[in-house]
Order: sequence, then C-alpha cells, then structure tokens
Amino acid sequence: MSQIVRFAGYSSPEHGHDAALLKLATALDLSGPNAKAIGVVTAADSADGAGVAATVTGWGTTSSGSNSTPDGLRSVVVNLLSNSALAQQYGSRPADLVVAIGPSIGACCYEVGLDVRDAIARAGFDDRELASCFFAHPQPTARNPSMLSLSRTRRADHWFFDGLLITCRQLERAGVPQDRIYTSGLCTASHPDLFCSYRRDGSPAGRMAAAIRSRPLG
Ligand SMILES: [Zn+2]
Repeated sequence: MSQIVRFAGYSSPEHGHDAALLKLATALDLSGPNAKAIGVVTAADSADGAGVAATVTGWGTTSSGSNSTPDGLRSVVVNLLSNSALAQQYGSRPADLVVAIGPSIGACCYEVGLDVRDAIARAGFDDRELASCFFAHPQPTARNPSMLSLSRTRRADHWFFDGLLITCRQLERAGVPQDRIYTSGLCTASHPDLFCSYRRDGSPAGRMAAAIRSRPLG
C-alpha cells in the first residue's frame, strides 16, 4: 500500500463515512479469467437487466460461517435477478437498499457521442431528463475542474454527459430512496493526484477497484 486517503468525514465506524481510497504499491494482475476489478454488466434485454451475467469478485470467506479467506481474488459469474425475483427469493426490497457509488468521470470532462445519448433515450428517459444530463459544453465546478487535456474544440453530435445523475435516476426508478444513495461527488478525470482515468491518460492508465464489506455484527 503506497497511500491511504481516509474519507474526511470519518470519525468512527458507528457514524458512517467509513470509506477510504487505497493506492497499491504494485499493480494488481487483473488479466486472468478470475480477476475483474468491477463486475460491469454490458447488455440488458429487460429494463432491469434480469438474466444478464455479471461477474462478482471478492476476498471474502470461502464458505458460509468460516474464517478462512483466500490468498487471491475470487470471482463468480451470476445472473442478475429482476426486482420481483429478488423480493421473492431473498425478501430483498429496493427501499431497504443502501447504494454507494464510487468516483467516476463527470460532465466536467466526459464527452460522449450520439450512441450514448441514444442508449439513454432507449432506456426510457424523455427529452427533459436528457437535457438534465447531456450538455453542449463542459460543466466544471470548483470541486471538479475540467481536465487540462480537454479539447477546447466542440464537435457536432457530442455532449458532456453526467452519468452519475442518470445512474441515481435509474436507482430511484427501481425504488431505491434518494436519501439512501451515496456518491463521492468526485470526477476521476479531474483529479490526477487521486484517481486513474482512461479518458484522461489513455491505455497507460491504472485501474480502479471498489470494495465493500458488511460491518461485523455485535
Ligand atoms: Zn472532471
């Protein structure tokens, strides 16, 4: 571990904000079939993605109730379930979920083309909603300045996309309460000192991984 950035609002596990950014001293090998940094779902036939295969990875215990943890990153491919199947099989309800969304590129830096706008429109977002997340010009803020390498030339049929906003809207549509969705509010491309960004650095860019664990009981 070469750097640990603790969330500024953290004081103790009981008060939440228990998140940190870890920079590894050596790169993880994510090339093998059992190593994927983040399970990304690439296609969905149904509105909620049911039936699509997703890869889940982790270092958790190797069997239920055991204390043994694996030496390497483990992975399993699972099929996504619809919200109704989740409720039926696991008693899980979107209203009970807490969602934490990690840093991602923002509308300050992220230029996209017609393909992305069409895909979001096909996902059921109307013109007003599209206008709230696709902008003709970059949307820098004091916290997230546009990356230095951003081209000043605007291209036809290209927009600056707020993917975080649309992700939150999709979660809310699925029934996750707004006040149970947490975001970092940080753009990866705006912060070369903190985050890797393929858009900013191209193929030499590092990779980011997200981790989550349940708080120990008792
Ligand atoms: Zn940015």
